[in-house]
Order: sequence, then structure tokens, then C-alpha cells
Amino acid sequence: MLRRIVGFVFTVILVLFLAGYGILRWEDHDRHPALQLPVGTLAIRDAKVYVSPDDPPLEHTSILIRNGRIAAVGPDINIPARTETLPCHRCIVTAGFWNSHVHFTERHWAGAAFKPASALESYLKTMLTSRGFTTVVDVGSNPYDTVSLRRRIETNELLGPYIYSALAAQYPPHGIPFYLRDTLPKPLQLLMPQPGNPAEAAADEEANIARGADVLKLFTGSYVEHNEVKPMPLANAEAAVQVAHAHGQLAFAHPSNLAGVLIARDSGVDVLAHAADDTEGVTPQILQSLIDHHMAMVPTLKMFRTTVTTNPAYLMPIYAEVQQFHSLGGELLFGTDVGYMTDYTTQDEFDALRQSGLNAMDILRMLTTAPAARFHVEADKGRVAPGQLADLVLLGSDPAGNVLNFSDVLLTLRSGRILYRKP
Ligand SMILES: [Zn+2]
Repeated sequence: MLRRIVGFVFTVILVLFLAGYGILRWEDHDRHPALQLPVGTLAIRDAKVYVSPDDPPLEHTSILIRNGRIAAVGPDINIPARTETLPCHRCIVTAGFWNSHVHFTERHWAGAAFKPASALESYLKTMLTSRGFTTVVDVGSNPYDTVSLRRRIETNELLGPYIYSALAAQYPPHGIPFYLRDTLPKPLQLLMPQPGNPAEAAADEEANIARGADVLKLFTGSYVEHNEVKPMPLANAEAAVQVAHAHGQLAFAHPSNLAGVLIARDSGVDVLAHAADDTEGVTPQILQSLIDHHMAMVPTLKMFRTTVTTNPAYLMPIYAEVQQFHSLGGELLFGTDVGYMTDYTTQDEFDALRQSGLNAMDILRMLTTAPAARFHVEADKGRVAPGQLADLVLLGSDPAGNVLNFSDVLLTLRSGRILYRKP
């Protein structure tokens, strides 16, 4: 009898342990399941097609999509009978857009592993796919939610963009920014990596990658108070970047000011996730040195205007910095910081980029070919050409005439699946 009870208790403990372990490890399984492409054909007829920012647009052009990829593009291509044609009516077609700075931190993503697919899909639509985004870079969020969301999209449980994620960002020691410190629950803040030395920084990044991170995000300059930026120790940044690069991953940094920019540059960071908003000392020579280090920049201009201040004395130097970086030949990537910024519309970012001297093709490059090349997926993404994944945006009006038309999205297609169709 006693043996039976002991056996029963032992079994219960074992089951509970395995269940607990399973729940904890659940997020780790199938980090990026193989892409499952749909079977079948789709067509777009009589569109104006921007093949890429570097090719002349094609007028009265048709596109044939077969099994999730672009099969043919041209005025007289052969479209098999009974192929479903997407509504276009002389629409404008570009490659799917990238948003290289987003967050899945708002309350509605919490418990993404267990939420109904339809709810998550509608949040994704509102925030991203109705804006034309087919690939996004999450530069910091709660790993449990983002990994679950990413897995459910990749296994076709719900429709959404392809997600690269930094999962947990790294901060300077005692360096959580005031806007997170004042809003996030204290227990959560204890889990946010603030390594005290290079060995800890490297270990934190190894652990982050083991949990499924695709990129590294560092706060090389962290606004610990409204008017105080705490720099990350250079050696910490170097150690974390070295781990990311050893795993073939890109490093993003939030610089804030000149010191943060220089730590990013000198530690080998690949992408500034924002322009420096304290532009003091960020001279053309400094910007040139970033270009010499093959660094890219995500300006996030609307975020500064929306969440900090509309004061031109603050904004104009940031626009000038972006304009200077661009005119020196620096690589810009489009990103809005949605998720942190709760206004999801994209018009204001396009407008601010126009004010920084960018034209429609400059912006199309930020949205398509530049990020695809930066992430080494240019064979699959960034252009409207045979062999590429059918990641496409159908616009109702031409951005060549007005860059705000990049926000006039009629339909968003990812790998030949319709993610969004304007009602
Ligand atoms: Zn952000």
C-alpha cells in the first residue's frame, strides 16, 4: 500500500515537473519553422509596378504568383485561365514593406501563446499589415509573448508579418530608461538585462539568443532621466556585439546622444535604431565615420515628434542630421517605433522623411531593398521580380507624386497570402 502511495506521489511530482518544464521551454521550440508556402496561382493585372527603387517603373504590367512566389512580371505574360485576379484597377505595386523598428509590448500582446488567433490577427492588422508591412524587426519586447506570436504566424495559425526579434534588450548598469522604469512592473524590470561587466554582457546575449533572439538591441545611451543619458560601458557593448556577430546576427543600438553614437560605432553595432535626438556634436564628420563603419540608421522621426515634443527647436536638428547622413550616402531603414508609439499611422513618418530631403524612391529603398540586403535576404525579398517571395503591397495612388501615398494601402500580400484587404 505504502509503495503504491509513494509511487503515486512520485508520478504526480514527475508529471507536474514535466508540465512546468514544458511550459517554460514551450517558447523555445521551433524558433523559425520552415516557411510553408501556399499552393496555387494568383494574378494582378494592369498595374504600375515599382520593381525596385533602382529600376524604372513598369506601366500596364501584370504579375503572376505561383505557390507563394512571383512567377512572372510583364505586360504580356501568360496567365492561366481561372487564375484568381486581385482587385487592382491601375493600382501601384511595390515589394512588401519592412518596418525595422517595432515592439510587441502593448498590453494586448500579453499571453500571446493562448489568445485567440483572430484577436491577434486583428491587432497585427491594425498595427502593421494594413500599413503594408510584411516583415518587421521587433527591437525589444517580452520574449514569452513575441516568441509565441512569431511561432503562431510561422505555422500559419494566424496571418501576420515575418518577425525578427531582439527579445530582451540590454541596458547600461542601473540604466533602465525613465519611460520604462515609470511604466513597467518592478518584477519585470528585474528581468531586463543590465550586465555589470563584459562577461555578463556576453552571457546575457548568449542566453537571449538561446531563447530565440534574431538580433541584438543595446541601449548604448539610455535616458535614465528626462535630461540625463547614461552611456553603456564600451567593453560591455563590444562583448555583446561580438556574441551577436559570432551567431551571424545584426546589432541594433539606441544611441540618444553623441556618446551613445560613438559607443555604438566603436563596439561594431550595425544599425542605429533611432537618429540621435540630442544632436550636440553629431557633426558631418561623425556621420561620415558611421558610414565608413557600414552602419545604417532608422530615423523614427514621427516618434520624436509624437512622444517628446513638437517644438521645432528640438526636431529641426534631428531632421538635419538625417538629411546629412542621407546626403553623405548613409543607408537608411524605415522604422516607426510602433508599439512604443501608440499612433500606428505612417503618414507622419513619410512626411518627416520628405522634410529631411528624401524622395519617393529613397523611401521605397528604406522600405524594401535596403533592409532586405542588410538582413541578407535579398534573394527572397525587396523586389517585384520572378523568384522572389510574393510579398507585395498594392497602393491606391502613386507615391512618386506624393510620398504620403505610401500609406494608401489597398492590399498586403505575404508569400502569396492576403494579410490585409482594404474594406
Ligand atoms: Zn523602440
